[in-house]
Amino acid sequence: MRKEAQPDFFGRTRDELVELLHSECGVSERFRADQLYEWLYARRITSFQEMTNLPRSLQHTLQEKFSIPKLEVRHVSRSADGTKKFLFALEDGRSIETVLIPSEMRDDRSPRRTLCVSTQVGCPLDCKFCATASLKLKRNLTAAEILLQIFEAERITGEEITNLVFMGMGEPMLNYDNLVRALTIITDPKTEILAKRRITVSTSGIPAAIRDFAMEGLNVKLALSLHATTNALRTRLMPINKKYPLEEVLQAMEDYYKTTRRPVTYEYILFKGLNDSHEDAVRLARIARRVPSRVNVIPFHPIDFTHPKGIAAELQPATPTTFERFIETLRSEGAAVTVRSSSGKDIEAACGQLALSESAMITPESITLPAVTS
Ligand code: SAH
Repeated sequence: MRKEAQPDFFGRTRDELVELLHSECGVSERFRADQLYEWLYARRITSFQEMTNLPRSLQHTLQEKFSIPKLEVRHVSRSADGTKKFLFALEDGRSIETVLIPSEMRDDRSPRRTLCVSTQVGCPLDCKFCATASLKLKRNLTAAEILLQIFEAERITGEEITNLVFMGMGEPMLNYDNLVRALTIITDPKTEILAKRRITVSTSGIPAAIRDFAMEGLNVKLALSLHATTNALRTRLMPINKKYPLEEVLQAMEDYYKTTRRPVTYEYILFKGLNDSHEDAVRLARIARRVPSRVNVIPFHPIDFTHPKGIAAELQPATPTTFERFIETLRSEGAAVTVRSSSGKDIEAACGQLALSESAMITPESITLPAVTS
């Protein structure tokens, strides 16, 4: 993948910090980069003066040369189901949304808190069912801005994130370098941020990026936004399918499995009368059987608040009966199926509803902030 302009100081991987300290500060001892790395990501200290094991002179140089970016929380909306949506302002004045979804772990019933992070401001893809499309692409997030969504959500709520999904605004694979940078830091056991098996990246399907991603050795879970089993329908719903048709995308998912040995996920929103027939379920199960996988069936979350036009205006959720029947067919055809819940629908925080709308917002002052400790 093409390398983009260098990221901020914060958000660099350990190897990049080694290089940076050498080129910008003339420091060639690797252990200095290790110390810095630990302050930034394990201890989450962002003021150089507090990095007490660094020499004073280095603290000064760092302070002069670099600033640490900030995410400023503007609003926190709270759903009746416990979901929280954060509106963060970036340093250039643009905004993004991040969603924290509480639930129970399937295995031991301990609390699960899943953070849904954004990777871009807006999105270039124009998927007809997704509210983020209405924003178009403003820019990629830096690795720092991706990481800070986790750090800030934990700091604001005082709750520990147990799972991470890259399903917020944007297409992660179109911000490849920063996605990989952020994941390299997050999954490094030294930072103790999150284990690989607790992380899912969701993509609309960019074959070359999926194959590169498999080779990175990050071994996180990969989910494909499939939503249709024929090219004709998928192209109507997701114009990116014209550029990367189904067969190429499915082949890339198979390759991801073969390289990583991680079962893949296929996400499938059920739309009334469009992709919810018996034949659709049979075709979907056939796709699911190609490599170890699960199918995540998703209820459609309406996006009327974006005033959709064309096919987008006609989309309806499948009826409950059709939904049940579809899942039964999938299972009887040999697919492993999960159903995604629609947490946060009342505050427009459910999948595909992130469009910076300010309805149901409350200001940060009106939620109880835990005392900040560091
Ligand atoms: N661009 C990435 C990640 C963002 S979308 C991708 O395409 O996967 C995250 C998930 O939300 C995807 O599965 C997406 O298909 C789903 N989604 C988008 N709009 C939705 C809607 N209105 N209702 C339900 N799910 C939606």
